[in-house]
Amino acid sequence: SKTAYVRTKPHLNIGTMGHVDHGKTTLTAAITKVLSDRGTGTFVPFDRIDRAPEEAARGITINIAHVEYETDTRHYAHVDMPGHADYIKNMVTGAAQLDGAILVVSALDGIMPQTAEHVLLARQVGVDHIVVALNKADAGDDELTDLVELEVRELLTSQGYGGDTTPVVRVSGLRALEGDPRWTGSIEALLDAVDTYVPIPVRYTDAPFLLPVENVLTITGRGTVVTGAIERGTVRVGDKVQVLGGDLGPQASTVTGLETFGKPMESAEAGDNVALLLRGMPRDAIRRGQVVAAPDTVVPSRRFTARVYILSGREGGRTTPVATGYRPQFYIRTADVVGDVDLGDTAVARPGDTVTMTVELGRDIPLEPGLGFAIREGGRTVGAGTVSSLL
Ligand code: GDP
Ligand code: MG
Repeated sequence: SKTAYVRTKPHLNIGTMGHVDHGKTTLTAAITKVLSDRGTGTFVPFDRIDRAPEEAARGITINIAHVEYETDTRHYAHVDMPGHADYIKNMVTGAAQLDGAILVVSALDGIMPQTAEHVLLARQVGVDHIVVALNKADAGDDELTDLVELEVRELLTSQGYGGDTTPVVRVSGLRALEGDPRWTGSIEALLDAVDTYVPIPVRYTDAPFLLPVENVLTITGRGTVVTGAIERGTVRVGDKVQVLGGDLGPQASTVTGLETFGKPMESAEAGDNVALLLRGMPRDAIRRGQVVAAPDTVVPSRRFTARVYILSGREGGRTTPVATGYRPQFYIRTADVVGDVDLGDTAVARPGDTVTMTVELGRDIPLEPGLGFAIREGGRTVGAGTVSSLL
């Protein structure tokens, strides 16, 4: 049988973010290469990271955009997304789960629109620690790279990240992958920066269990499996749970299997990336966006008030105001649902404004004050908000 997961080091969730083609996936592969050479990880080549997540239905599998590795002091789950839209869906809206992020900026190109958008959204959903990988340093000249570094620090400061004290490490994912010692050393330096700069988060392990569903799989002969990162609480094999946020109303089930990265575990806790096997749950009774929770601890609803920042045109948002009657998509945890916006006495909200709004979603989903979300329209993020109260 498979080796069980043994918790010997604190577990953290991190991810790469940044503009397309700045080298996120190359860097992710390079990190696994350097750590596998060190003996605390398994090398995951570029094309295994950069592949569509949908078809990995062999064994209980975590969303394959995750890789797992250890440094001397920590166990990490690291998420890397193929495109900007996947990034928004999988990282930003699930980013309450991210304990820290590696912002990848090409030293050749500097800050690009998605760089700025990812930093803004990371701030909005509560990613408190960012480490910068100034990538492609093998190909850039020093003066230009110095300028890019200044520019990145300014961007971080403008979003409240304290850009002056943020670690900025010049790396080359590509050369490190090729085994060039100068650049494998740069990856070591980046990992040291992550180890020291991103603190071990406070985990709400005493709160009632809640897991936002990222993916649903069928394992032949075993049943329906859901994967995701546990938002709070703990769960054990044998626990009764409720599946919430679907058209069928609350569904009762029992956890009959629990794994992390293919290794069975007896119990899992807030922050862990897990796969749960659910007894008697038909495949079509559950989908991404729902939550699995301790029974009777969560009540789905659809009307709430929120404080929302409307992105400016410069930040990739709208160039025209929004008004009551606006119907964009709301990305809340892993859910993606349409909502009607009512601005009340505030007639219009202009790009760059922060406003209070009432939202009525197209269906009931689990909501609570303090929950962060993104607002999207036509494939781009136009707002970022926090739930104030349920109505
Ligand atoms: P992503 O879209 O951010 O995931 O970027 P990729 O990892 O797919 O890389 C985009 C392109 O940049 C590819 O052609 C890579 O080979 C190249 N690249 C990535 N890292 C480096 C680097 O450190 N140096 C150089 N010179 N090129 C790189
Ligand atoms: Mg990529």
